[in-house]
Amino acid sequence: MLNLMSTLIISGRTAREALMPALMARIKALSFVPQVAIIQVGNRADSTAFIKVKKVFGEKIGVTVKEIHLKESVSESEVIEAIKECNADRNIRGIVVQLPLPISIDRDHVIEAIDPKKDVDALTPLAAKHWLEGREDAIFPATARGVRELLEYYKISLAGKHVVVVGRSMLVGKPIAVIAENESATVTVCHSKTADLMSETRQADVLIVAAGRPKLITIDHVKEGAVVVDVGINTVKGEKLEDEIVGRKLVGDVDFEAVRDITSAITPVPGGVGPMTVLALFENLVDLCLSPKR
Ligand code: NAD
Repeated sequence: MLNLMSTLIISGRTAREALMPALMARIKALSFVPQVAIIQVGNRADSTAFIKVKKVFGEKIGVTVKEIHLKESVSESEVIEAIKECNADRNIRGIVVQLPLPISIDRDHVIEAIDPKKDVDALTPLAAKHWLEGREDAIFPATARGVRELLEYYKISLAGKHVVVVGRSMLVGKPIAVIAENESATVTVCHSKTADLMSETRQADVLIVAAGRPKLITIDHVKEGAVVVDVGINTVKGEKLEDEIVGRKLVGDVDFEAVRDITSAITPVPGGVGPMTVLALFENLVDLCLSPKR
């Protein structure tokens, strides 16, 4: 296809680099070194890689990252026990339970055990209530916050736009839809039971995709000139692009090469939303440190 418009490649790495000094200044201004605990259950290679990225970034900006690694065979009550220990530890200001958990463990039970004052991922029922209600001091899940800040950085306004979000999870799709609505967009949320995905996504001025399905979005799903934000992170066989996972490469949900030329702006994977999610996680941590009442 002839590229009639120049496409902006939205770089999460560039935006994060630009936003990092302000976050570091906020961390430095605290009277203590904040600590975040990341709990991993099992040995999923992608989880290990994501945790490494968070640890490296956290330590770069002055946060102590404590990894708590539990065996795949651990019981639900042992995971909850580990969370309770973090809740009780005054030095730990944020708790991340790296998802997904093994299927033998009830994710809701585990999340509910996190002290909402330390819930940097904003997954506990209280945190979700706050962001669903649109409370001014609500903490949003990091990916949603990261998407908002990425668009803000590139001066892409959502007001008055038709935003289509593919995915409705509490971690990603739903909070992104809430943010878009809060920013005066008209929002359509699609999911695995949407009858005609293509006719919905073709309406989008801004298409935000968080389904976890490689190449779900093809050129036929996208209106010419749309902004496309690909939240999906899927590991498929291939030559690694990142250092972390040998023999695997990361791809999004959008067929980037096919779609990019008809968009006005698009995020790549990796290097798009991912870096912003990591930044936003630590921004949430600082917000919780400064407003511990909640
Ligand atoms: P999830 O499995 O909880 O939810 C997926 C959502 O996509 C569901 O609502 C489902 O209905 C919808 N969906 C699935 N298949 C679909 C289809 N064929 N058509 C339309 N909708 C479909 O996953 P999640 O936790 O929301 O994560 C979504 C993706 O975002 C994953 O690839 C995940 O790895 C990625 N992710 C990326 C970041 C980041 O920083 N970039 C952070 C978190 C998650």
